[in-house]
Amino acid sequence: MRTRLYFLTICAAISVIISPYRSGAQEPGAANNPIRVRVAVVKGADSAKIFIAGNFRIIDHLSGSTLLEEKYLPETDLVATGAGFKLGEKEVSGNVISVEPVGGTRIYINERVFRGGIKVIKDEKKLTVINALDLEEYLYGVMRNEVSTWWPMEALKAQAIAARTYALNQVAESRRRDYDVMADVSSQVYGGIFSEKWRTNRAVDETKGKILTYKGAIFPAFFHATCGGSTFDAAYLWNIDLPPLKGVKCRWCGKSPHFYWERWIPVRESEGKLAAAGYPVGDMIGFEAVKRDPFSARILELKVKGSKGDAAILAKDFRRIIGADIVRSTNFKVTLVGGYVAFEGLGWGHGVGLCQWGAYYMSRAGKTAAEILEFYYPGSKITLKDRPS
Ligand SMILES: [Zn+2]
Repeated sequence: MRTRLYFLTICAAISVIISPYRSGAQEPGAANNPIRVRVAVVKGADSAKIFIAGNFRIIDHLSGSTLLEEKYLPETDLVATGAGFKLGEKEVSGNVISVEPVGGTRIYINERVFRGGIKVIKDEKKLTVINALDLEEYLYGVMRNEVSTWWPMEALKAQAIAARTYALNQVAESRRRDYDVMADVSSQVYGGIFSEKWRTNRAVDETKGKILTYKGAIFPAFFHATCGGSTFDAAYLWNIDLPPLKGVKCRWCGKSPHFYWERWIPVRESEGKLAAAGYPVGDMIGFEAVKRDPFSARILELKVKGSKGDAAILAKDFRRIIGADIVRSTNFKVTLVGGYVAFEGLGWGHGVGLCQWGAYYMSRAGKTAAEILEFYYPGSKITLKDRPS
């Protein structure tokens, strides 16, 4: 109950503070769903390319006063200055500004087009650009990048509900931050309007407002490409101890292109990466999986043996240090072969929650979105939550 109240307050606050449409034309869908997501499309950059294809105004976020009103902005660099921001030849003062489209104008940031307005925050001459938009429209942009548009509709719908739940949970947890989600894999991949496709849009529309709850409360409905046989307990990765995220045996993703993987990288390269991350083991001698999760077989802790001593490293850290695209999951074997570190493993991604390729094969076998979600998030319920109150 507390979570619910807290969540409602946040959504109400967000829609009051950030209303990119208040002076522009009503965006499709905005009237029916006031839940907004704030996406950091640029984070801590020196500059961003901006192009505005029509009428717009720039507003000082603190005072609400209009700093600039123009009919068009050719592609130019947006940079932070001592007193404010520079957009090509034009300068405005302030630490936080809103760039608001007037009418149906679209704003392009780094050659990606976004719906609605943007907020730009300056922090020691670094820029963060935030695009606040309707939750359902945010999901249109996410879906295309997370799954293939040709997947069966029930798999797409399951993904849409999981993605909506994940995003709303982020909104609830980020009230003290300037944004709710990042536009990259650290949240969900959001690609702007170019990413929208009609089948994935349809999956969003057909599940409009549906989220997952456990005992009435929203939870972070994680998902990943392929589990490799078992999903993973979120308690190991993020200290989240919740029945829907405990892990299940998945017999569905065996035919996924990401079920089995093999990667070889030069020993010198991995020694260098480990040393740079604070593990100077010297010449690598071998590896030992010190601890594995008995349920999913994922490695929890790995010992790297070296000429200068051994290093015990959490497998999730080891994966990040060597590269998450090289070590595709923490369910792997590793050996030294000649001058190479040879990895062999199962699955792709962190392994928590919905297995996307498993969901694909479940839908091919006639399972519904509800059945897929019940399987990967045991004990969860589909709940309608299409407005903040
Ligand atoms: Zn799976």
